[in-house]
Amino acid sequence: MRYLSTRGGTAPLSFTQAVLTGLAPDGGLLVPERFPQVAEQLDAWRGLPYVELAQRIFRLYADDIPGNDLDAIVADAFTAFDHPDIAPLVDLGEISILELFHGPTLSFKDIALQILGRLFEYILGDSGRRLNILGATSGDTGSAAIHGVRGRESLSIFMLYPKGRTSHLQELQMTTVTDANVHCLAIDGSFDECQNIVKSTFADLEFKRRYDLGAVNSINWARVLAQMSYYTHVGLKSAEPTAFAVPTGNFGNIFAAIAVREMGVPVGRFTLATNDNDILARFFRTGVYRRGTVHHTISPSMDIQVASNLERYLWLRCGRDPERVKRFMSQFADTGEASLGDGAPVDPGIDPVAVDMNATRATMRDVHSRLGYVLDPHSAVGVAAARKVANGTVPVCIGAAHPAKFPDAVTEALGSETGNAVRHPVLDSLDPATARCTELPADRQAVMDYIRDNSTP
Ligand SMILES: *Cc1c(COP(=O)(O)O)cnc(C)c1O
Repeated sequence: MRYLSTRGGTAPLSFTQAVLTGLAPDGGLLVPERFPQVAEQLDAWRGLPYVELAQRIFRLYADDIPGNDLDAIVADAFTAFDHPDIAPLVDLGEISILELFHGPTLSFKDIALQILGRLFEYILGDSGRRLNILGATSGDTGSAAIHGVRGRESLSIFMLYPKGRTSHLQELQMTTVTDANVHCLAIDGSFDECQNIVKSTFADLEFKRRYDLGAVNSINWARVLAQMSYYTHVGLKSAEPTAFAVPTGNFGNIFAAIAVREMGVPVGRFTLATNDNDILARFFRTGVYRRGTVHHTISPSMDIQVASNLERYLWLRCGRDPERVKRFMSQFADTGEASLGDGAPVDPGIDPVAVDMNATRATMRDVHSRLGYVLDPHSAVGVAAARKVANGTVPVCIGAAHPAKFPDAVTEALGSETGNAVRHPVLDSLDPATARCTELPADRQAVMDYIRDNSTP
């Protein structure tokens, strides 16, 4: 399998090259040259345990790693999960929840990042090379990435976050990891400033090469690949095509569902759920992609205006024509607005729905009082959206995070009695006394100096 850039300006890469490269050098995203058609294998796949199914899917896309090694990486990653089914499906009658938060940091990000950390380490192997992973987080990605690479010899991680603007628990999930290869950088600035520092550091190609910088955000193809397994696993459980509701921010999770659809796995409709940051809901309704300002909501992991993974979808939607993708992306970069402009519905299989905070809290209350289940605010956005498009089928709603990660939002919606009762031992055992981080100004040079002094090139 070869990987191409959505912008057409990069020589094809192997899977392992694609994983180490992250963003393509021409600024595009890496995509597989084809989506293997699996219709004829589905009967053999039905009933496979989760881990075995994930191994089959990885083998289709990661064909430059010996199959046995790949299987071992995937199997080992899932030992970090505390549920025997990895991703259990909880049937609540009118809806069901696919719980993806049984990994070490309690969000769906663990499914991909537990695998990615091991993949990096395997690919670097005995080369003597080290990778310095650089990222910015507003919450869940940071802790999941740190837990994926902690203690791995060939990796260091430098994670920037806006000081005082993540939730207290999210910060502790990062800063209480005491392995020497983990560097939490509390930046005196906003998340956007953190992300800009990361982007402009990657853009310094000499620095990137000298310090072997690697990326863990969802532009990395391995993350999408890892997430394809749960859509396939659930899709094969039912004779009818399964509809999914996906709370969406950077478009990584729902793109994994779309990739599964491309492979010929029978799936039903997808509900693309956003919070008040509705740029994607508007795009799928109108074909016009227009940047707005970021609204801060109770579902912070979806407070995103520019969804980096959308470019992979655009490539598919534009007939895999890199010239059309390039035109769209440069128009968007120049003017903050771009349009498909072909008058056709963007995607007849996707129902876009934006959900505001009142509707999110009302859904949390309703699902708790009538169905006895506590949703985290992100998953609640998905459930609320699915209900708006309800068409007689029971959708599978993505359970994106454990509700105990968001005690303030749960208390606000369900009252302090429930808020106090929603706990998780992983969070209860976080010890603030062990927290450590380095405070830095919102200044690229300061971050680069820190990396220089704390990495082994
Ligand atoms: C990352 C995240 C999302 C958004 O997922 P994308 O892949 O960025 O669309 C939603 N909810 C939670 C809890 C998350 O951590």
